[in-house]
Amino acid sequence: MSNQKLKNTNLKGKKVLIRVDFNVPMQDGIITDDNRIVQALPTIEFVVNQGGRAIIFSHLGRIKTEEDKLSNSLKPVSIRLAELMGKDVRFVPETRGEILETAIKELKDGDMLMIENTRFEDLKGKKESTNDSELGAYWASLGDVFINDAFGTAHRSHASNVGIASNIKTSFPGFLLEKEIKFIGGAVDNPKRPFVAILGGAKVSDKIPVISNLLKTADKVIIGGGMAYTFLKAQGFDVGQSLCEEEMLDLAKELLERGKDKIVLPIDFLFTDEFKDKKPLHVGPITAIKKGEMSLDIGPETLKLFENILKTAKTIVWNGPMGVFEMENYRSGTIGVCEIIANVVDAITIVGGGDSAAAAIQFGFQDKFTHISTGGGASLEYLEGKALPGIECLNK
Ligand code: AMP
Repeated sequence: MSNQKLKNTNLKGKKVLIRVDFNVPMQDGIITDDNRIVQALPTIEFVVNQGGRAIIFSHLGRIKTEEDKLSNSLKPVSIRLAELMGKDVRFVPETRGEILETAIKELKDGDMLMIENTRFEDLKGKKESTNDSELGAYWASLGDVFINDAFGTAHRSHASNVGIASNIKTSFPGFLLEKEIKFIGGAVDNPKRPFVAILGGAKVSDKIPVISNLLKTADKVIIGGGMAYTFLKAQGFDVGQSLCEEEMLDLAKELLERGKDKIVLPIDFLFTDEFKDKKPLHVGPITAIKKGEMSLDIGPETLKLFENILKTAKTIVWNGPMGVFEMENYRSGTIGVCEIIANVVDAITIVGGGDSAAAAIQFGFQDKFTHISTGGGASLEYLEGKALPGIECLNK
């Protein structure tokens, strides 16, 4: 899929529907991280500079009650977008109807308009989230061309992505979506080798399909974070009170058998006796765990082991923190992995979205990776090797 087609399309005077993922974190109406808006700017700027009339769609949060609407309006997002673009953005507090249609008619070439949170439609019977056919057709009727640049929702079939695309003649991936396809899709389908995946996070159950798929394509699969303890227990170790999914033990055993020496597990740990941000009681191999203790992070020997494997890699995909990085005393594993990956020369380095992306940004590694994905669930499903509906629906 290439944006050459988008670049060669004359957008002047066209009403261009753009689906972005502006599902940004907010506190009391203030945006706390505008990374997703910043990442979508190239596509919006392109449309505006071509003289297209940009009609911007996004969701924000989940809308289950009328009350949810109060804290999830896209108005503050439209204000931030206007600041970043240095240009007015007309905000329409509706998702359909006459006010919206008139505002669209009034648009001039190069103007921008943002409609209210697409998920407000979910209060009318989950119309956005179930890809209601009438809603998708209606939104498609508002424009001439559709660009999907929302990777974060590409794993969902919603009215504002698949619905619009199926009801409009011309659709393209935006520049951000294309970047995600190039890096994540490229890593899974055609990686430069050695290809090393490093997976962490809390739950094995969430990541089984990813591990399974990566065992087929990666040269090594490093497992850290809360997930590692289920694998260690499957190997017969006592993991004490550490996070462990008993019902996943058989699957973990199967993966270990299938992966053989492809799977690399941590060799030392930071032990404590309660899930609290206090100094670890001791550091050592899993066999050193005492009664009532748990491990909340990987130790320094593990970082050395991981570094030895990662330093010769030519493609690295990282998803999921190595420990409870939210606690100051248990973030050294996650920061250590950030540092190791940032220092690997001549490699394509990709951070999956969600917590690992948040950690990489929080610890100041934003510019140290080739690509930090904007999609959590979407990047996981892409790593699983699944076709994503928000990509599949576009004209190729
Ligand atoms: P996930 O959403 O699956 O990527 O998991 C992220 C969460 O895993 C973070 O909130 C971490 O605090 C948590 N986590 C990572 N390592 C551990 C661990 N050893 N024990 C408990 N939770 C952990």
